[in-house]
Amino acid sequence: MSNDLSPKERMAIDRVHMPELPADERSTNFEEVNLGLSADQALSEAQRCLQCKTRNCVAGCPVGVSIPEFIDALACDDLPKAAKILRGDNALPAVCGRVCPQETQCEALCVRGKKGDAVAIGYLERYVADWAMLHPDRLLKEAKPEATGKSVAVVGCGPAGLTAAGELARMGHQVTIFEALHDTGGVLRYGIPEFRLPKEIIDREVAVLAELGVTIECNVIIGKTLTVAELSEDYDAVFIANGAGLPTMLNIPGENLKGVYAANEFLTRVNLMEAGRREDSATPILQRDEVAVIGGGNTAMDCVRTARRLGAKRAMIIYRRGEAEMPARIEEIKHAKEEGVEFIMLTAPLAIVGTEDGWVSALRCQKMELGPADDSGRRRPQPVADSEFDIPAGIVINAVGTNANPLLTATAPDLKLNKWGNVVADEEGQTSIPGVFAGGDIVRGGATVILAMGDGKRAAAAIDQYLKR
Ligand SMILES: Cc1cc2nc3c(=O)[nH]c(=O)nc-3n(C[C@H](O)[C@H](O)[C@H](O)COP(=O)(O)OP(=O)(O)OC[C@H]3O[C@@H](n4cnc5c(N)ncnc54)[C@H](O)[C@@H]3O)c2cc1C
Repeated sequence: MSNDLSPKERMAIDRVHMPELPADERSTNFEEVNLGLSADQALSEAQRCLQCKTRNCVAGCPVGVSIPEFIDALACDDLPKAAKILRGDNALPAVCGRVCPQETQCEALCVRGKKGDAVAIGYLERYVADWAMLHPDRLLKEAKPEATGKSVAVVGCGPAGLTAAGELARMGHQVTIFEALHDTGGVLRYGIPEFRLPKEIIDREVAVLAELGVTIECNVIIGKTLTVAELSEDYDAVFIANGAGLPTMLNIPGENLKGVYAANEFLTRVNLMEAGRREDSATPILQRDEVAVIGGGNTAMDCVRTARRLGAKRAMIIYRRGEAEMPARIEEIKHAKEEGVEFIMLTAPLAIVGTEDGWVSALRCQKMELGPADDSGRRRPQPVADSEFDIPAGIVINAVGTNANPLLTATAPDLKLNKWGNVVADEEGQTSIPGVFAGGDIVRGGATVILAMGDGKRAAAAIDQYLKR
């Protein structure tokens, strides 16, 4: 341990603030908002870690990153060692350092958080991961695994698939990822916007996996081009990680009007098809002065902040509960507010109103109030009588959630599904078909990057055991 500071001295250091682009500047472009810590800031923050024996923070991390150890190496200014520890536990550290909800995971359990601010574990993870990307020549080399002669097919190139693929390749198995889209990353690329997660970061993390020998075949739709049964014939095991990309419908009148988008379609056009480059792009995207986004999660924040960057004068979040109940990360809500996004709380949509020629003109809403808590522990929204009102809108974006896409499962009749169409898998990812494992959003429903990665990691260990039988 770096012991040149006493615990008292460590306690006296204040948490760093992440440098970021000014709100008025960034709300007109897609540049990354958070700029990353300087070397001095990272060192100072690393020295705040008390290196406690209990390692609570590790228990809060679904992939079990050795947090005190990598922070200690950083505090000792041994970045190659910090990077080796971090990358050994986490296949996508530069991604997680940017998008993980640390405040509810590792940092929520940090001992320092009991009396003040938790150690900024996510910022430090990002710092070390970015350093590693910029200094490939200084990284400690990984031993090449001995080839096992076994092969694994992975369906989907999102965080679950990428993590499982990396782990399996490190174990010496031959891994091929089949991806339906023409590019890698899953939601990381087509959902999360450039201003939160630059595409270059995804490219670099995926390149690390490719160096491990993972093959990625894009433009292959499992359920159309090939079936799960065909993969099982050609490979020794299969890992299904195709996410949950089918939008949940609002089921209100007017949903088919022109100008209504599902969040994933809106974000995919901008993030994957480059519609954000506007006139330079072949993919069209509507631009209107008033954009209403329905929902209160990370997806809703990404849509509304994207709409603002595309030029919306009034970019609005319409959410049926209060701000305290919003599932979006606190940082995303703060950034959205700074960028001029309007939050219309305790408001539920009743209908989308259109013009005679079929275009959206307004969102008809109803005021809500909070009643007793429901099963989720959050207070249930209840309609306020006679409180209907219209919000003028040229675009309405539905960001209330996603479900499993039946494209793959429709051609795999032996795969057991739950009532929502998600694949049923045990703790280790084993499905109802021997040798076929699954994890990530296709099993959990819409969750988080790190939970999907945790599934990928656990399933890789189980697949390895299965292949050794
Ligand atoms: C807009 C948005 C913002 C988010 N923000 C955050 C955040 O800030 N922090 C966070 O932790 N989580 C966030 N999430 C959630 C997180 O991104 C997901 O939980 C995570 O990506 C799930 O990983 P996955 O690997 O299971 O699936 P995905 O990332 O969905 O990847 C699945 C991949 O499988 C491919 N695929 C689908 N069907 C097939 C098929 N039939 N054949 C072949 N390939 C197929 C898809 O094209 C995709 O590439 C966000 C989600 C969205 C939509």
